[in-house]
Amino acid sequence: MNYLITAGPTREFIDDIRFISNLSSGRMGYALAQAARDAGHSVVLVSGPVALDPPERVRLVNVVSAVEMREAVLKTFPESDIILMCAAVADYRPERRHTGKLKKGPDTLTLKLVKNPDIAAETGARKQSRFLVGFALEAENAEANARSKMAAKNFDIIVLNTPAAMAAESSEVQVLFPDGSGRRIGPAAKQEIAAELIRIIDEIRPNRSRQD
Ligand code: C5P
Repeated sequence: MNYLITAGPTREFIDDIRFISNLSSGRMGYALAQAARDAGHSVVLVSGPVALDPPERVRLVNVVSAVEMREAVLKTFPESDIILMCAAVADYRPERRHTGKLKKGPDTLTLKLVKNPDIAAETGARKQSRFLVGFALEAENAEANARSKMAAKNFDIIVLNTPAAMAAESSEVQVLFPDGSGRRIGPAAKQEIAAELIRIIDEIRPNRSRQD
């Protein structure tokens, strides 16, 4: 099967040296890429800027911003059977990127942000027979929010993380299925969680290639 995995944060530049980003380390996405590869799949990993070694025998596509990540995903999407949206995509980006370095000026500075494309929702709307896995990081009403995200973005399953998982080595997740059921994995190292997630996906995903 062909896996497409997004990982890491995105950077949204204010000027040529400053950006908005988040704490995502990319570890979960990279662990998933390795686990899918080890299970015999072909993997394209679309990654935001992270401090991790590129996994061997995985096609790594490096991107910086959400807009670039969207382009890379849309390019690879047609040949993908299973798509894991693990990236922590910035919801907003500065309306414009200033060239050079913004000068220090008045006591307050207003930054106008515009919404980034929702890569997962766009993929969900076009997925046809592809199997799409979403990730959610929720602080409150976690399961209910994750379930509505799964429906809104047309995910086949959603993996619910707690905010403590961000940038951590280990994690505990809950895999939520559309029939209302769920399954807990961990606490365990992200590699173990990733391997279990790939096993679950390979088990429930019909064993056939794309039909379209
Ligand atoms: O809406 P929220 O950001 O919580 O949704 C999380 C899921 O959507 C994750 O799977 C994430 O990778 C994906 N996402 C995306 N593009 C965005 C925002 C989120 O692909 N702009």
